[in-house]
Amino acid sequence: MAIREVNKVVTGTTQYDGAGVKLVRVIGRADVKEFDPFLMLDAFDSDDPEDYIKGFPWHPHRGIETVTYLIKGDIEHGDSLGNSGSILDGSCQWMTAGKGILHQEMPQATPRMLGAQLWVNLPKKDKMTEPEYRDLTKEMIPVVEDEDHSVRVISGEYKGIAGATQGDYVKIDYFDVMLQPGAKFQISTDPNRNLFVYIVLGAGSFGSDMTTVYPNKRALLFEEGDQFSAIAADDGLRFFLFSGVPLKEPIAWGGPIVMNTREELMEAFREIENGTFIQGGGLDGL
Ligand code: FE
Repeated sequence: MAIREVNKVVTGTTQYDGAGVKLVRVIGRADVKEFDPFLMLDAFDSDDPEDYIKGFPWHPHRGIETVTYLIKGDIEHGDSLGNSGSILDGSCQWMTAGKGILHQEMPQATPRMLGAQLWVNLPKKDKMTEPEYRDLTKEMIPVVEDEDHSVRVISGEYKGIAGATQGDYVKIDYFDVMLQPGAKFQISTDPNRNLFVYIVLGAGSFGSDMTTVYPNKRALLFEEGDQFSAIAADDGLRFFLFSGVPLKEPIAWGGPIVMNTREELMEAFREIENGTFIQGGGLDGL
């Protein structure tokens, strides 16, 4: 039995994206090799609507999945498949961009917006799959309650409970784990997977080192191992846990498009330029 130890701590940088949304890019381009199959994690935590109200107006995606999960908040969305709706407290939107989608994501003013958008890479063979939206409502996400902790199973399986999805392409675990002060959480993990956590609230220790306390708003990447362990500090601990088998495929990344080769990237931008990006429909004037 090998406990996964913390391998790397990432704080990310404050950035503005979309039409001017203030966010923390926790992991991004520079981290892709180590965090594979995860490409990006943007974290939101704000009580000032000015930080996010400008939103992410219409933009394309290809070759990835974007997974937006909100503990608190309200993001209205619409897309070129004709979907529209809102991501609300405790719900998740799992969007497969595949061969191409245009969408907009517009956060609405709420007392607090707290959540994250994760980008999961698509395997080379699935990059041009059909696009699809999945609205995983709060009711669809099982909550496994224990004496001193609870786990929301967005994706994967925890204690025999299947999450709201398993992922159609890359199978990932995505758990929202809440520990009471001093609570311990230990699970078995597939040693073939890369695993990282993002500490949302509180603080805690991870792996066999019980003395180092990591504060919130940090991502921790773990070494290989078949056990994951966390202990909450005095104020409790809430973190997102992500794991997935690395794809180990070449990456050509241009803004919202992530392909395997530069040629594929250029082709995508050519299609956007001449209006053929979205076949059989799409939105006029985009
Ligand atoms: Fe987007």
